[in-house]
Amino acid sequence: MKTTEQGFVNQNDQRNDGCTQEPGTDHCQKFYRMTCLRCGHHYLANGSDIWQRKCPKCLGGKP
Ligand SMILES: [Zn+2]
Repeated sequence: MKTTEQGFVNQNDQRNDGCTQEPGTDHCQKFYRMTCLRCGHHYLANGSDIWQRKCPKCLGGKP
């Protein structure tokens, strides 16, 4: 499964909930909706960051 596929869960228990139409902050990236499976926090991440993303609330990731 690709990191940009909806339903992907990375090594930090962060789940990709699908692409948004919002442009990301990296070159040619879109923001993806992410859910933390540890605390339930929702946030947005660049597609290129999904594989290594950490929850900004409980894992100290960038906001
Ligand atoms: Zn969390």
